[in-house]
This record gives sequence, C-alpha cells and structure tokens, in this order.
Amino acid sequence: MNKKALFYAIALAIVAFYLAMTAFYRWGDGTPPQITLVEPFAQAGPTTPLVLHVEDTGTGLQEVTVRLVQNLESYTLAQEQFSPQPLLSIGKNTHQTYDLTIVPFGDDAIPKRRGQVKLVIAARDYSWRGFFEGNWARIEQDLDVKLTPPRLEVLSSPLPVSQGGAGVAAYRVSDDAQRYGVQIGEEFFPGYPNPERAFTAFSLFAFPHDLPASTPVLLVADDGLGNHAEQRLDVPIVPKQWRSRPIKISDRFIERTVRPIIAQTPGIEDLDDPLRNFLQVNNVLRKRTAEQLTALASDSQPEFLWNGAFIQLSNSQVEAAFADHREYRYDGKVVDRQYHLGFDLAVTKHYPVEAANDGKVVMAEYFGIYGNTIVIDHGYGLQSLYAHLSSFAAGKGDVVGKGQVIGKSGMTGLAAGDHLHFSLLLQGVQINPVEWWDPRWVQSRINEPLRDPLRKNPGPVPTQGPRNRIGHLPPGP
Ligand SMILES: [Zn+2]
Repeated sequence: MNKKALFYAIALAIVAFYLAMTAFYRWGDGTPPQITLVEPFAQAGPTTPLVLHVEDTGTGLQEVTVRLVQNLESYTLAQEQFSPQPLLSIGKNTHQTYDLTIVPFGDDAIPKRRGQVKLVIAARDYSWRGFFEGNWARIEQDLDVKLTPPRLEVLSSPLPVSQGGAGVAAYRVSDDAQRYGVQIGEEFFPGYPNPERAFTAFSLFAFPHDLPASTPVLLVADDGLGNHAEQRLDVPIVPKQWRSRPIKISDRFIERTVRPIIAQTPGIEDLDDPLRNFLQVNNVLRKRTAEQLTALASDSQPEFLWNGAFIQLSNSQVEAAFADHREYRYDGKVVDRQYHLGFDLAVTKHYPVEAANDGKVVMAEYFGIYGNTIVIDHGYGLQSLYAHLSSFAAGKGDVVGKGQVIGKSGMTGLAAGDHLHFSLLLQGVQINPVEWWDPRWVQSRINEPLRDPLRKNPGPVPTQGPRNRIGHLPPGP
C-alpha cells in the first residue's frame, strides 16, 4: 500500500466515523423541543402580546412556526428556520433557545381575525427520527379575538359645569368595559354602577380650575385588550375668573410655621435658609401632599355616604376663597405663586370644627402644609379636608355624621392665624365647595340627574356663594 492510498483510507475512515457519529447522534435525539406560552391567554385584542419561549436540548431547533387557523384557513404569524449545529459540536449536549414577542392583533397585523381562532405553535429539531422529519412539538389553543371597543351611550343631558366645579355624567356601558369614566385632560373620574337606576353607570367629575374651558370632557371605556371607546360630552364649561392676592411673608412667619413643618415631615430637610425653607415647603411639600390626596381618593367607598348639601362651618367668615391666586412676596420680591385650593373659614380661636357631611374619617394626622388634618370620605371619590386643627375629636375609621364635631380649629401647618382650611376633593382634584354648600345645586346637578338622567335641562342654577365673605387674607395652604 502506498502513502497516497493510506492517506485516502484514513481520510475515508475519519469521514465515515463522523457520519456514523452524526447518524448515531441524530437518531439518538428522541427529545422534542419544549414550547412555552409565557403569558397564556384565552381572550386577545389589539394590544395582547404573544410571548413565546422555545427550547431544545440535543440536535437543536430546526424550525418554529406560529399560525392562526380559522375556518380552515391558516395565517402564518411567524416562521423561523435555524441552521443545523456544526458537525464539530456533535456529541456536545447542545441547548438552544428561541424567544419571540409579537402583538398578533395590533394595527399592523396581517389580516385581522376576529371571533374564535386556533393558535397553533409548532417546532421541530434536527433529529433524524420520524424518517428524517425531526421530533415535533406542537401546542394548540383556542382564542377569542376581540377587536371591537366597549359600547357607550350617554344618558344625561349636558348641564353646564364651572371651571373648578363638578358635574355628573350618566350613561350605559357594555359589560366588556374594564375601566370606564370621564377623562378631562390628565384627570380621570372613574364610573360606577348607578344605584339609582339599574343597568346604568355614572361618574362624578370635576373640571379642574386650571384647565382651559375648551378642554374636552370625554366619556371613555377600555376593555383591557386594547379596544378603546371615546365619546365627547357636550358639557358647556363656564369660565371663572380667580382672584389674585398678594401675600407678604416674613422671616418671623417662616420661622414660626415652616420650622415645625420641616421637623415633623420626613424627607424634608432644613436647608438653613428661611426663604429656601419656605419655598421647599410651599412647592415640594405642597405637590407631595396633593399626590397623597389623590392616592387617598382611590380607596373611596363606592357608595353615597353623604346626604344632601354640605355645610359651611357654623358662624364662620370667609377669609380666603377657592382658587385665589396667591403671589408670595418676600423682601419686596415675588418669590412664589400658588393657587389657594379651598376656603379659609374663621370664627374664634379653637372653634369646634364640624363634619360638612356624613362620611368616614380616612385621615386624622399631621399632614405637611395642612398641619393637623382630618379627611372624611363621602364615597364615590368625594372627600372633604379640614386643616390647621389644634386638636382631633375623631380618629381614622370613625363614621361621622353631618355637623358632628371632629376637632378644634387652630394654626398648625402653614397658617398665619387660627382658622379652618376647608377643601373638597373629587378623586383628589380640588373642587369649589361653594356648589356643594348650596342645597339647590346638589339637588339639581347631582341628585336629580342621577335619578332621572333624561329629564330636560332645567337651565342655569346660580349658586348662592358662601356666607360672610370678607377680604382679609392670612396666608394658608
Ligand atoms: Zn387655606
């Protein structure tokens, strides 16, 4: 045997060995790939993601296909071919994975399928089992594909709503809606089943005092699958002019009010400068308390805890009104601007403070700029706030009645003198209490539209306004 022949023989033997090993290995792999639908679902819509994880040990993935089958027609959503593992890696225990996330029924999806479809996911490996077909894995799942938004039908006639004021929207919404309500700018006012009329829903909503009157009032519904319904409510918005008031602040005022607030509020540091301390409390802390009030509203009871009109603190004089625009002056310069969102009501020092309506106390604690504060939940997102108290006569969890004494007025927090700061909030949005103090307004704008949404518009209802309005203005939040 010459050298050349020996070389060919050895080469042939090596090739034969590899082929034999390949065959041994390819026939030896009897384990099909594993398919996992990471977030299983039975109902799908435009935003429902399909998250797929496929893995294979042994010869590796050859092919993965994702298809929809409906009425004997098949649509390929995804198809992936993989190259075989290199010959040299044969014998090593390969582990291969494939991940896919698609939104099959989104806007760009291939022919939109609605109704019942079958989702078929198949994968095979490079095994030679099954007459060189490979080991197949396959999962099938029936899906209900929903591509229609919830239905909305407005029932209420469009009553005018003031900037900073409130209103009620009555409507019908189909059962598939998971979230529905009134959207105004960034603010969302959830809907609830209407206890006064079966199979209808309602939202109490507020038109924020600082939004332009042209901002649309929208009724919206979402089904959680990406189908969105939206309808504009023809609510006439009555623009309001807010008063502008200068407030002089002195080092003495800051020392007396701001220092105790900083001492009792975690996360607010003493900046060792009176003006910076004041601005921190008037800005940063004011914003934070507003966020906390919004969070507090999300736990509001879905029932009417209140009854009839709200009451203004007895014998009180109005020292500052809702949405007064305050310009804070320090050393002759304007250093800050804020809206005063509430009413400052003064009687005498340590005057007994009465609950404005029936409800449940959801906060009774020291609360930043508001000092000692009580918040009463009246249900459906409506809450009243009593600030600057010198003492508490009710605690968290107490059920209180209209007129019941819940504490005494004082000057804790950011207050220049003894008074009650009273706010009304709807889903955390500050609203003008004047409307709610007026029995005719509550009757015609809230109670009647809920009971009889389709009745004729009774025309404008002038609100009476607060009692004993005077112009003197102590700074308070
Ligand atoms: Zn105030």
